[in-house]
Amino acid sequence: MAGPKATAAFEQALQLMPGGVNSPVRAFKSVGSTPIFADRGEGPYLYDTDGQRYVDYLMSWGPLIWGHAHPEIVQAIRSAAERGTSFGLPTELETAMAQKVIQLLPSLEVVRMVNSGTEATMSAIRLARAATKRSYVVKFVGCYHGHADQFLVKAGSGVASLGLPDSPGVPKEIAERTIAIPYNDIDALRDLFLTRGEEIAAVIVEPVAGNMNCVLPRPGYLQAVRELTRSYDALLIFDEVITGFRVGLSGAQGRFGIQPDLTTFGKVIGAGLPVGAYGGRRDLMEMIAPSGPVYQGGTLSGNPLAMSAGLVSLNMLEQAANDGLYERMEQYGNQVVEQFLRLGQARGLPVYGHAIGGMYGLFFHEGPVYDFADVCTSNVELYVQFFHSMLAKGVLFAPSAMESAFVSAVHTETELNATLDAMERAFAELK
Ligand SMILES: *Cc1c(COP(=O)(O)O)cnc(C)c1O
Repeated sequence: MAGPKATAAFEQALQLMPGGVNSPVRAFKSVGSTPIFADRGEGPYLYDTDGQRYVDYLMSWGPLIWGHAHPEIVQAIRSAAERGTSFGLPTELETAMAQKVIQLLPSLEVVRMVNSGTEATMSAIRLARAATKRSYVVKFVGCYHGHADQFLVKAGSGVASLGLPDSPGVPKEIAERTIAIPYNDIDALRDLFLTRGEEIAAVIVEPVAGNMNCVLPRPGYLQAVRELTRSYDALLIFDEVITGFRVGLSGAQGRFGIQPDLTTFGKVIGAGLPVGAYGGRRDLMEMIAPSGPVYQGGTLSGNPLAMSAGLVSLNMLEQAANDGLYERMEQYGNQVVEQFLRLGQARGLPVYGHAIGGMYGLFFHEGPVYDFADVCTSNVELYVQFFHSMLAKGVLFAPSAMESAFVSAVHTETELNATLDAMERAFAELK
């Protein structure tokens, strides 16, 4: 429940910003309340303006793999700021960042930095269309790829939980160029390629779907998508805005052993600052201006504060990965999931869940979840109760049943035990 300060702050914000927020999911509409307001964060904890402390599994919707205000990241931002916040000229930092990202991702030969995940995906699609001279794009129902026109078609989470299947303002001529088919259904993709294969520029996919809660690919699914796209000369774009550096050091592509043609990044790559990136095969990326004719630019792209934060974070991840960080985060998530399943089953509630790297999904759903239709048969009412009950006990999950939960490198046994204990008490209250 939002406290008095948050309630007053939200009333004021409502007068000044659409819905009182700068991004729709922050309004807590999907959990039928008004938002808490963030005051500050420290490691795995978020403090709200009403003085409550929460174990944070929202983690700014994914970016904060090092938790809040990690001293080394703060120091990197501080020293970058002291040297100037933006130059509009190349910096050596950008080269260092490009080198690091390319080193960690075997499918990347060349990379371009942008300022958000949305910019990354819309640029990758433009490039794919230019490279293939085809205009249709295939996406999967419930996958979210940012808010560019061509992606606001069956786009999951924020869009879905607000009940806006398609947004007004998106011309139907543009929406028509996007074909949405079910995730995890290779027959649907094969059938589509059989009839329209020559028209399809690219297939874009979240390799682990993180915007309809957290849905894993079926074994062999991503491999089959790779083979189909290749045989029809369509590009495969992995949207790793969530999964990049989160499910493993080399993202989902490393984990599942797939070489996409292009990959998009956001969230973790910027360690909490506004960063996105897209990259891939050299022959494709060389088509981007000024090396080629496909235009894409950005006044603040490769910003020194953002590059400094991102680079320090990636360097720390590389070290920590050697010491089993991703296994540890997955183990943490699995323990939360196990408690969720145990408590739910004991009460005869529909429960399901799983963890992968630093993300995990909790579903009030009977049995496995493979696509958006499955996710939509989850019991949202139970999630809303669960969310509020956990919040009252000092544990913050995403304010929507359609979102993944995130663990950071700085969540410890202490936070895990607090979570398991809160969950025990929360389930006792569920009706
Ligand atoms: C968050 C997200 C985006 C959009 O990124 P923004 O930085 O919010 O523009 C794109 N794709 C995926 C998979 C995302 O989760």
